[in-house]
Amino acid sequence: MTANTLLLRLEGPLQAWGDQESKFVVRRTGEAPTKSGVIGLFCAALGVPRRDAPDMWLPRLAKLGFGVRIDRPGVRWWDYHTVGAKMKMRIAEGEKKTKKGAMLTRREYLCDASFLVALQGDPDLITQLEVAIKNPKWTLYLGRKCCPPSRPLLERPCGDFPDLISALKSIPWQKRTRFDEPPRERKVQCLLDWVPTQGESEAPADALVWHDVPITLDPPSHRPRFVIRRELLVGEDGGLQMEKKPTQRLTPPPLRQRADYRNTEYRKARAERLDADHNLCVFCKSPGTTVQHVTYRRAGGGEAREDLRALCRLCHDAVTMIEYGQGMGLDRIDPCEPRWRDQIIKKRDEIIAFRSIETRKRRLSPEEVE
Ligand SMILES: [Zn+2]
Repeated sequence: MTANTLLLRLEGPLQAWGDQESKFVVRRTGEAPTKSGVIGLFCAALGVPRRDAPDMWLPRLAKLGFGVRIDRPGVRWWDYHTVGAKMKMRIAEGEKKTKKGAMLTRREYLCDASFLVALQGDPDLITQLEVAIKNPKWTLYLGRKCCPPSRPLLERPCGDFPDLISALKSIPWQKRTRFDEPPRERKVQCLLDWVPTQGESEAPADALVWHDVPITLDPPSHRPRFVIRRELLVGEDGGLQMEKKPTQRLTPPPLRQRADYRNTEYRKARAERLDADHNLCVFCKSPGTTVQHVTYRRAGGGEAREDLRALCRLCHDAVTMIEYGQGMGLDRIDPCEPRWRDQIIKKRDEIIAFRSIETRKRRLSPEEVE
C-alpha cells in the first residue's frame, strides 16, 4: 500500500509561527503553523543543517501539499524579552552613536493551541519523514526553540488520501479533558494549499497569500503560496463534515498581501505596465515610479500587465491607505475607476497636510536652530 499523507499533531503550552509580520523587535505569530515552520521542523528531525537545506531538501519538501486544521486556536500572549546586558546598542542620534543596554524584543505566542497538520505528496518522501519524526536527530519545537511539544507529534501512521481535506477529516475532533467545550458553533477551520488546476487557473476570491514557502533557511527567504480557508462541522461524536464556505475568521486578516517583488515574471509585467502607461501616474500624470496591484489573484510572479497600474508615490500611498482602511481581499483599488476618485484626492490631501506638519516640526527642532 502506498501512503501519501502524514498527519501531525502540534500541541504544547506555547507555539509561535512567525509570518511576514514577524520581524525585527516585534515578533508576532500567525494564527496557525506556517509551511516554513513545519518544513524547518522536518529538517531538524532529519538532521539537515540550515545551509544544506536549500539544495538537499527544501525544493522536495515545499512541493508537498500542506493543510492545517485549527482544533484549538489558543490565546495570544506577549512576552517581553531582553537579550544581553551592557551591549552596544545603536541609538537614533546619527551614525555610530551607541549606548549600553540590553536588546529588547516583544514576542507573541499562541498558548494552549492544538493543530492537526497534513502533508501530502510523494509516498517515498512521506515514509522517510515518518521515520524521521519518530526518531528525530535534533530537538523538535513548535516554531520557536522555547516551545516544546507536549505530546508525540505523529498523530497516526501515514495513510493514503485523495486530498488534504479528506485527510484532515479522517481524525475526529477530541476533547482533551472531560470539561472541554466543543469548538465555537461546532466548527473547526482548515487552511489548505491552493494550487492551479486545469479547470481553475485563477485563485478563488477568498484565497489568501501567505509568504511561507522556504527558499533558504539561513538567511530566511520565502516565496508566496495561495491558502484557502474551509470549515468542518464537528458532530456529537467528534466526527467531521464538510461545510461549504467559512463564515468568519478567527483572527483579523493581515494588513496587506504582498507580491514577490524579486520574481522576474513580476518585474517583466511591471516594466511593461510602466511603459504602457508612458511612465506616468494614471491618476495625476506625475512621473509614475511605482505600480499598483489591482488584483492579487496572480500575485507571486503570475501577474499580467492588466493586473497593474502605474502610479506616482503619493497616489500609491493614498490608494494603499484607503485599502488598509477597507480591509480589502485579493481584489484591490483600480485608481482608473471613477468611483475611487474623490477618496483618492481626499487621502492625497491628508498625506500632503501631514507631511508639511512634520516638516515644520523638524524645522523648529533645537538641532536645526543650532
Ligand atoms: Zn499620482
